[in-house]
Amino acid sequence: MKAVIASKPGIISLGNKAYPETIGSTEVRLKVRTAGICGSDMHIYKGTNPFVTYPRIIGHEFAGEIEAVGSNAKGFQIGDHVVVDPVSSCGLCYACRLGRQNVCKTLSVIGIHEDGGMQQYTTVPTSSLHKVPDRISWEVAALVEPFTIAAQATSRGRVTAEDTACIIGAGPIGTAVMMVCKMIGAKVLVIDINPARLDMAKKLGADTVVDPASPREKKVLDHFTKHGGFNIVIDAAGVPEAFEKAIDITSPAGRVVTLGFSPNSSAITQKEI
Ligand SMILES: [Zn+2]
Ligand SMILES: [Zn+2]
Repeated sequence: MKAVIASKPGIISLGNKAYPETIGSTEVRLKVRTAGICGSDMHIYKGTNPFVTYPRIIGHEFAGEIEAVGSNAKGFQIGDHVVVDPVSSCGLCYACRLGRQNVCKTLSVIGIHEDGGMQQYTTVPTSSLHKVPDRISWEVAALVEPFTIAAQATSRGRVTAEDTACIIGAGPIGTAVMMVCKMIGAKVLVIDINPARLDMAKKLGADTVVDPASPREKKVLDHFTKHGGFNIVIDAAGVPEAFEKAIDITSPAGRVVTLGFSPNSSAITQKEI
């Protein structure tokens, strides 16, 4: 069967892999239907993902149909449509005990630390599966994982309908965050340097969009927040300048959520915070 393999930085190819004949007792075998390409997959390709090990079958945003179930795999049956939670955690460390498995000390992510979903078939433990209704298209099902990032960011940022929110970065994750903020009822402004991405953000529900290179930027931000600053800023750009800007434009008692993993330092002083 076919698999997308990142063998080392700069080299990615469609290769062959043995079909997974054996299934653990609490696992299922999935026929993978769709998989999204994440920004972090691009980092794996370029060699700038600090967490990955090579060679790696990539793909952590994927959906599939159950083709076989293990002898003790409860709650799932052949034909079920499922999405996969790619994160597995120890359940014992401080973060896990707090219910924050996403930052487990020995976190392992399918498609990054272990082989992922960009292969025709794969085995997955039932504890990592979530059923999706058959009426949800496979393309939309593959977007569940990026939307969990948006759900996490907005929950950590305690976004409410009363908030004036700013999303820095209108890539797929920033756009998903914007859509969840709008579902909650917040007023949302999106910042990005790419006009096509700003157009898309506007089309998908952003109240206002602005290019940070525009001389109008400060005026637009001040007008949007009535000179009060943003109550919540979510940095989905992941560059040091965006993190600095986030601190700069947040209101007193506001919240900043950062989603990138840039290794470069940013110049934020204690006084600003
Ligand atoms: Zn991702
Ligand atoms: Zn843990």
